Amino acid sequence: MSICGISESNAQIKLGDKAVGALEKGVKGFTFSDEDAAALSKEAVEQMDKENPVADAKDGYAIRLERLFGKHKSENGLNLNYKVYKVKDVNAFATADGSVRVFAGLMDIMDDNELLAVIGHEIGHVANHDSRDAVKAAYKKEALLDAAASQSGTIATLSDSQLGKIGNAMLDSKHSRKQETQADEYSYEFMKRNGYDVNAVESSFNILAKMSEGAQSSFMAKMMSSHPDSKDRAEKSKKRATKDGLYKAYVQQPIVNAAPAAAKKAPAKKKKK
Ligand SMILES: [Zn+2]
Repeated sequence: MSICGISESNAQIKLGDKAVGALEKGVKGFTFSDEDAAALSKEAVEQMDKENPVADAKDGYAIRLERLFGKHKSENGLNLNYKVYKVKDVNAFATADGSVRVFAGLMDIMDDNELLAVIGHEIGHVANHDSRDAVKAAYKKEALLDAAASQSGTIATLSDSQLGKIGNAMLDSKHSRKQETQADEYSYEFMKRNGYDVNAVESSFNILAKMSEGAQSSFMAKMMSSHPDSKDRAEKSKKRATKDGLYKAYVQQPIVNAAPAAAKKAPAKKKKK
């Protein structure tokens, strides 16, 4: 596993005052502000970035993600940052601090519009505060496990392994069906508002539906158990598009994850369907 140090912020794991405050408060009564959740999420994501192979700036996957999402770093008033984990899993997640992490496996099967739709869904979880609730739950669990230790002395830092646990818990956290439906709606509106092909939302769910028939990844298991049926979600998206007069059967565009220098001329994808 190679770790790349490219990061916009300081790469060192160092607990900020906010996170320490969250920890102290958490032990007392688990009152957790949005700022606390964001601070703790940020620490946990930085730990995950250390433990996963992050695509560097010259990597084709990172270049593609930057091309697609560079302009959405302050989407809807949110402060977002993006990275690619070069792993085969079909997965993506977003956390309360606005960190979006996309796995290469997802980028291998989704074209630009479909990727925008999936990440739009993840951004929806941040915008709707689902991610904040998830880190709260994860933290609560971790703090409870460590309650005995934390009562003995002053808490200065969370260990890397605790941050790792919180990160994993965030990754595994299940949102309710209602939260999923709302994130789907957010995704559709995100596509529409930005002038992207809204039909890619339906298409991305159809891909996931097809995959879920055979796939074993935890992401897919999650999609099956907590997300409403992918086919149903595709259908709902189709209905929204039809109602808006925007429906047209979506045709997947070529997927290019190679860096531009290596790729033969990436096909234009601006075509409106
Ligand atoms: Zn979701």
